[in-house]
Amino acid sequence: MKPRLIDTHAHLDAEIYEKDLDIVVQHAIREGVWMVTIGDDYASSKRAIEIAERYGEGVYAAIGLHPLKVTNAQSTDDTLLALEKFHALAAHPKVVAIGETGLDFHTIPEHQRNDPQRAEARLQKENQMRVFGKFLDLSRETRLPLLLHCREAHEEMLAMLETWDKTTRGFDSRGIVHCFSGDAREARRYYDLDFAISFTGLMTHGAYQTEVLKKSPDSRIVVESDCPYLTPVAWSIRRNEPAYCASVAAAVAGVRGVAVETLERITTENALRILTKIPR
Ligand SMILES: [Zn+2]
Ligand SMILES: [Zn+2]
Repeated sequence: MKPRLIDTHAHLDAEIYEKDLDIVVQHAIREGVWMVTIGDDYASSKRAIEIAERYGEGVYAAIGLHPLKVTNAQSTDDTLLALEKFHALAAHPKVVAIGETGLDFHTIPEHQRNDPQRAEARLQKENQMRVFGKFLDLSRETRLPLLLHCREAHEEMLAMLETWDKTTRGFDSRGIVHCFSGDAREARRYYDLDFAISFTGLMTHGAYQTEVLKKSPDSRIVVESDCPYLTPVAWSIRRNEPAYCASVAAAVAGVRGVAVETLERITTENALRILTKIPR
């Protein structure tokens, strides 16, 4: 069976699903929504695989380390050592992507980010970039696409990806920038690097990213729930779940002025083209 939609970013290992995860997953599958559950550190990546293993079709895993989980300790050696272990996980048949990984400078006050006197801020930035670089290597070595997290760091991320791009010719399944927060010009640069961008329930809470969406080609957009966060407005008193991606798709279709069915078909084709290990 072909899915109606693919939720490219779900955190099914979140504690909030502990009691009824199977109901949440079955609800999505019944609605025709397949999903990728995301690892945000090593333990969570292992849990993502365990969850994906419980289901035949429709649930897949990504393995990664969230930038905010990269410590600002003097050394990131432990993290870097763990990369060997990530390598082993990547070979699992249900692992379809590397992520989430990326850069997030949101917690570093803006005036400190480039101030050489602020050793801690500098270290935090450098460590994130160093670890992100390792995950870029992992993606190249395993030929798995990237699921990128980027907040207040698009310039740095694009610079790193542009360098990486030169070393990865012939690798045309790059990945997705999830919960895209950049502007239309930044989106264009991601497209030039063969990345897609992903939209969430934030789209349903009023005008958001309309310029980016209107200027994006069909081939570059996908949807995600980012559950249990970012619940679409129609369900906003509840925790989010993959099935609600249908609301995201409807909101995106509205902005682009296309039929919901068309938008669903386009984003599903894009997700399947990028996440090549999902069987179809
Ligand atoms: Zn994220
Ligand atoms: Zn996430």
